[in-house]
Amino acid sequence: MKMDIFPAIELLNIGKSFGKKWAIKDISLTLPERQCLALVGHNGAGKTTLIKVILGLIKPSAGEVRVLHHDPAMRDFSKLRCSIGFLPEQVLFQKTLTGRETLAFYARLKGLPANKLDEYFERVDLHAAVDQRVGTYSKGMRQRLGIAQALLGRPKLLVLDEPTTGLDPVARQNIYKIIDEEKKSGAAILISSHVLTELDDRIDRVAILNEGAMAAQGTIPQLRHQIGMRSRIGITAPPESCDAIAVAFAEGARIERFSAEKIVLRCLPDQKVEILRKIMAKGLAITDIELIDPTLEQVFNAYSCPVQPGCHHA
Ligand code: ATP
Repeated sequence: MKMDIFPAIELLNIGKSFGKKWAIKDISLTLPERQCLALVGHNGAGKTTLIKVILGLIKPSAGEVRVLHHDPAMRDFSKLRCSIGFLPEQVLFQKTLTGRETLAFYARLKGLPANKLDEYFERVDLHAAVDQRVGTYSKGMRQRLGIAQALLGRPKLLVLDEPTTGLDPVARQNIYKIIDEEKKSGAAILISSHVLTELDDRIDRVAILNEGAMAAQGTIPQLRHQIGMRSRIGITAPPESCDAIAVAFAEGARIERFSAEKIVLRCLPDQKVEILRKIMAKGLAITDIELIDPTLEQVFNAYSCPVQPGCHHA
């Protein structure tokens, strides 16, 4: 009986050194199918090195790697390569080939029919340029061709290094729609990105690399919780209601008063509901309530703060 592939990536205490320098050290992580994990970190944090280890392009100096239940550095892994889609950070194509010829070339490499490629061009919105030479493509068009190439053959694991580089806002949205579709059809997705603002609400988990080490990993709410990052409850209300809220929450929640009619309570995420319940129980006149959780960018800054860990989260 064929076993379900789960998880797609398992890393145990992975390290990679170049000479005396460890580019990554002691990295453990698991990526199950139907999940999207974002790998984030400053320049030089070790993201590309980790991706190369996962793809079997370089051997780790320490630890164990399993990708689709196999060691990617072993010879027998080659038969699993067609189950992996990879978009490199820098997409380089032969300029004289057309989009169709390029994708046909990659389809053949994966053992797929080279004449059924229209759906891929449609998905990345490149159908109008299939017979145009790649040398005439814009940067964003080349990036979309790279994504079409990664999607060939419905991979079980998609590794996307900076997938939205050079894309306009509509194309960026489309990439996240494609990621969602691939996830729903069972793929595991590893995405490396510096554009943290677009990852909020679009990923299942995040792994933060800092100088080659794993600074944190988990869901965004888990990471906020781990270092006690505060959420904000913004209340717009008549001055007397704001005054009453300021008195009621003088202890516990941190209060910022922006004007007579705007008050903000800063509290731990698991205190939000209780605070809201207390406010509503007072029967005060309230015009508007806004709940703001720390963004991934703020979470990332808190974990990568060089001076004092956690210094951004107060
Ligand atoms: P960026 O966001 O800039 O792409 P990154 O997180 O992908 O950075 P890596 O490219 O993995 O970072 O590099 C991590 C560290 O390993 C860097 O200090 C880099 O100089 C070093 N490194 C990577 N590849 C090599 C190599 N082939 N030889 C020597 N050092 C290397």
